[in-house]
Amino acid sequence: MNQKLTLAEKVWRDHVVQQGDAGAPDLIYIDFQLLHEVTSPQAFDGLRLQGRTMRHPELHLATEDHNVPTEGIKSGNLLEIKDEVSRTQVSTLRKNCEEFGVRLHSMGDEQQGIVHTVGPQLGITQPGMTIVCGDSHTSTHGAFGSIAMGIGTSEVEHVMATQTLSLKPFKTMAIEVTGELQEGVSAKDLILAIIAKIGTGGGQGYIIEYRGEAIRKMSMEARMTICNMSIEAGARAGMVAPDETTFEYVKGREFAPKGADWDKAVDYWKTLPTDDGAEFDRVVEIDGSALTPFVTWGTNPGQGLPLGETVPDPEDCGDDNSKATVKKALEYMDLQPGTPLRDIKIDTVFVGSCTNARIEDLRAAAEVVKGRTIDANTRMIVVPSSAVVKADAEKEGLDQIFQEFGAEWRTAGCSMCLGMNPDQLKPGERSASTSNRNFEGRQGPGGRTHLVSPQVAAATAVTGYLSSPADLK
Ligand code: SF4
Repeated sequence: MNQKLTLAEKVWRDHVVQQGDAGAPDLIYIDFQLLHEVTSPQAFDGLRLQGRTMRHPELHLATEDHNVPTEGIKSGNLLEIKDEVSRTQVSTLRKNCEEFGVRLHSMGDEQQGIVHTVGPQLGITQPGMTIVCGDSHTSTHGAFGSIAMGIGTSEVEHVMATQTLSLKPFKTMAIEVTGELQEGVSAKDLILAIIAKIGTGGGQGYIIEYRGEAIRKMSMEARMTICNMSIEAGARAGMVAPDETTFEYVKGREFAPKGADWDKAVDYWKTLPTDDGAEFDRVVEIDGSALTPFVTWGTNPGQGLPLGETVPDPEDCGDDNSKATVKKALEYMDLQPGTPLRDIKIDTVFVGSCTNARIEDLRAAAEVVKGRTIDANTRMIVVPSSAVVKADAEKEGLDQIFQEFGAEWRTAGCSMCLGMNPDQLKPGERSASTSNRNFEGRQGPGGRTHLVSPQVAAATAVTGYLSSPADLK
């Protein structure tokens, strides 16, 4: 009888070049590597120093995203980047891509954007693939049923040189989301609730497969939001089994198989979902129908609660370690235990990042702010995750809706997701952000971040306090 396998085990099995003995790493074939300006320079230098070439430059694609400004970009000329370090990073990527023959989408290019939006957008990301990038949020691509993971700089170089990687065996976790999400509850609320439940280390050593009715009903963009934050639970990767929703999204895109190759590919993709009776090392259940909008109050993505709750009291938080962790987070966030989360005043609302700045996210936020006026003491910046998303949004008039509301409409990039470009919080400023990390100083030194969905971000910009659309009159 054939062994019953999970989705992750099937994809792994189909990429083993050489099996490791007794728990030693397997040598795995890598189908595609994505690159950006921050984590690729040392890898290219390494190749150069050893006089090596790239084995498959055509299986690599680079974008400029982390360091690029999101204002004043017209031609993509390097001088449009004022910060010298950022300019050097971007200029180095351009030179490296030219020298090694890697396709690059630069600032000002119509396909430029955050690497985790650009991959799926071009149809590079397909079911059953292995995809890597020197970036934690590569897990996003698992939404298509691929094993996608962030890797270190030396591994980036290894993949460039060999198109393979030594990877340790993993454990499998199923997160079963039962029931349907209620109106007003999004993929972001679900993933924040999952991380709060299993903790930021709960996924360590596992590849998570998100399953169940709520996941099956989600669009590809919502599934990307879920998989994107798998890394925030410490998981090696997150995956969703491919289905008709996946095939429909991939079909017709530039890198998608065509004609007979398409039919062959779909036949293979249909074999990938977890076999009935396959066993996971761990199963976690979460009732999707019981969820309400979720926000973080602390300094890691697992420190979240439903918006209707209050800031926790360290004294109620288990052992001394937990008490100390919560106390430290509240000190940094300048929050008092017992404060209703809805009473937290917000200075800046950021709708952006590879988690939540695709077209559906922008539509959801625009629907909330349409016809309303921004709170007088709050600023809102909206940063599409790619130039294509920006163009699509402008065709639909979303840019007008945001600007009439009082928000700033920017060009694509990582922007305020991390303090590596001009979009940063000032010390002490507090944001409601659709990004994925609320670590101390992540959005700028001294900045305080509350992670939220695009809908909650938009409602917060209306009131100036953490709010959901249901709170608006
Ligand atoms: S948007 Fe943020 S998390 Fe995503 S790739 Fe850029 S910096 Fe990383």
